[in-house]
Amino acid sequence: MARKIVAGNWKMNKTVSEGAQLVEELKSGLAKVDVSDVTVVVSPTYVSLSEVVKVAEGSAVNVAAQNVHQEANGAYTGEISADILKSVGVGYVIIGHSERREYFGENAADLVKKVDAVIAQGLTPIYCCGEVKHQRESGKQNEIVGGQIKDELFHLSSEDFSKVVVAYEPVWAIGTGLTASPDQAQDMHAFIRGFVAEKFGQEIADETSILYGGSCKPSNAAEIFSKKDVDGGLIGGAALKADDFIGIITAFN
Ligand code: PEP
Repeated sequence: MARKIVAGNWKMNKTVSEGAQLVEELKSGLAKVDVSDVTVVVSPTYVSLSEVVKVAEGSAVNVAAQNVHQEANGAYTGEISADILKSVGVGYVIIGHSERREYFGENAADLVKKVDAVIAQGLTPIYCCGEVKHQRESGKQNEIVGGQIKDELFHLSSEDFSKVVVAYEPVWAIGTGLTASPDQAQDMHAFIRGFVAEKFGQEIADETSILYGGSCKPSNAAEIFSKKDVDGGLIGGAALKADDFIGIITAFN
């Protein structure tokens, strides 16, 4: 069975001290509930990673970076490599978020290298895929998402693919207040699992955590997470307040 995961993507929010404070609040809130079967992840900005790792140490909170550069080192001003992320104690890296694809031009060739770089350092990629609005409206969502996964993940060996967490994030639902209906999420997650099974086998597909992302909130998380192929969420706006994020994490219970 796939691990349940709820990961918060803080995007370009929270100063270092605000991030540390949020993790303190998460730690005290999570200590009061049973979340032993859910992996909780937060993704601060690069500059907050060290401090957040320190504050989160020994708690149920794991730490992800929001991005990585694909090369190991060198003249890439402003960039951060997977081994630098590893050196600060990060365990996960978000790869291919739609904002990185749209605003920073990340393409399949970049993402293949980023996934490889992250896995080579023993870190867990949280790989994002999803269709834009007109693609959904013309019924092309499976073709688009299947194409992304094929082009960006199917070069992996079965062993390496089994280290990947997939986040399905319909772009039209990110930060818009629009949410995929629980049935739309389930249909896509079932499609992804089936597509992965065709390539890597049913056992690996069943073990793959497939997260939903897109305006997930405490009020809709329980219904979305109750769907068979939804193993958790990648959460943006609602991950910025401890109460909301904990409300989503405990939506499994
Ligand atoms: C995201 O950016 O990954 C996301 C899901 O954002 P939001 O929850 O704010 O829609």
